[in-house]
Amino acid sequence: MATPQVSRDGNAQRSRPLIDIQNLSKTYVTASSGNVHALNKVDLTIAEGEFVCVVGPSGCGKSTLLRMLAGLDTYDAGKLSLDDQAVTGPSGKVGGVFQAANLLPWLSVRENVRLPLRVGGRHDAADQRIDGLLEMTGLGELGARYPYELSGGMQQRAGICRALARDPQILLMDEPFGALDALTRERMNIELQRIWQTHRKTIMLITHSISEAIFPSYAKLASEIRGLLNAQEGASND
Ligand code: ADP
Repeated sequence: MATPQVSRDGNAQRSRPLIDIQNLSKTYVTASSGNVHALNKVDLTIAEGEFVCVVGPSGCGKSTLLRMLAGLDTYDAGKLSLDDQAVTGPSGKVGGVFQAANLLPWLSVRENVRLPLRVGGRHDAADQRIDGLLEMTGLGELGARYPYELSGGMQQRAGICRALARDPQILLMDEPFGALDALTRERMNIELQRIWQTHRKTIMLITHSISEAIFPSYAKLASEIRGLLNAQEGASND
């Protein structure tokens, strides 16, 4: 059984646990490969305001863990709670950024960012909020553009704006910069640090890149890197 490993930013104030994962297990029952044990008794506590990286080889269960936190997948056993409430489905407390930005091609950047607010029925100060987010990620001049007119890095920045639109407490990111070239990726990591520092979100970033996982450290923001659990190869099958 593979287990994701964790590095966390030690400068974050260790306040109350916001994400509480205990003994969490998940087995997929498949026709082709039998029972796939994606997660086996995983424990992880993340305090409010922490920036935590989950790192591990492909197939060790990182995305499964993140999907469960986002309320997009179920778990078989254990405890999974956000802010002391069991996760039973998607929540406005959580924003997600995934490997592909998945912007809607028929909407401008500005309207893509507005979408979660519209879906949530929130129109209060929306324009102001969207302007602020676009400005913060360097897209201030590009709100009227359509996704196909943006580079990959710009699309991911728009995806981050969309995830932050409803001001979630928690930002879950699943290898969000994996498809970008090395320079853009580095720039995006710096930008993410800035967003984290400015907004003090609780961030969980999934990556298979060790350098990305320790990025907060070499950016002189972290004082502690902790490998919690032993990494092993691949998920196990029955
Ligand atoms: P990672 O994100 O670390 O690459 P995943 O969480 O995507 O790993 O997958 C963990 C294991 O669970 C893998 O063996 C994968 O094949 C399996 N898995 C993930 N999703 C499903 C699914 N919907 N059905 C069956 N098996 C799945």
